[in-house]
Amino acid sequence: MPEGALHTPLFTADQIRTRIRAMARDIERDYPPQEPLHLVAVLKGAFMFLSDLSRAMTRPVTLDFMAVSSYANGTRSSGEVRVIKDVDTSLHDRNVIIIEDIVDTGLTLAYLRDILRARSPKSLRAACLLSKPSRRLVDVVVDYIGFEIEDRFVVGYGLDHGEQFRHLPYIAVYE
Ligand code: 5GP
Repeated sequence: MPEGALHTPLFTADQIRTRIRAMARDIERDYPPQEPLHLVAVLKGAFMFLSDLSRAMTRPVTLDFMAVSSYANGTRSSGEVRVIKDVDTSLHDRNVIIIEDIVDTGLTLAYLRDILRARSPKSLRAACLLSKPSRRLVDVVVDYIGFEIEDRFVVGYGLDHGEQFRHLPYIAVYE
């Protein structure tokens, strides 16, 4: 791939920071003041987003993590989802927000919404940093979206290609 593309941000660190602060304000506005939120991040891609979003919150927040395998082949997900690591604490009667890096076909988020809904949270919403609406295969609700993007494969800010590039502080197109 051309060396240059990875060094040309689609979204700079500054743009991401600004957008995440606005998302945190939008999220907090939707819940009663000081009501605790429980953020469940999907590893590994959402780790940076969770880190910045949670630090932008001004109320009690607790965190947990899940890991799923989406049986990707190459740069496309196949649609099958499997839980690799489950949350450590009960979701019962909590305001749960699923924290995802990117919604592509929507299959992973639809699956997560189903299995977490079954654990009787007080409320269940999803916050995703990126969304590719043109790729959607299922009509899944994404309550908070950072940026909508075209059908391009992106890396950085937690997102990888073959475990590379997660550490980049910005998001770039991998081509
Ligand atoms: P979905 O189930 O919505 O098709 O796929 C969601 C998952 O596919 C994401 O959590 C992410 O791991 C992976 N994915 C989808 N699009 C991209 C992309 O552009 N870049 C990277 N690095 N991963 C992606």
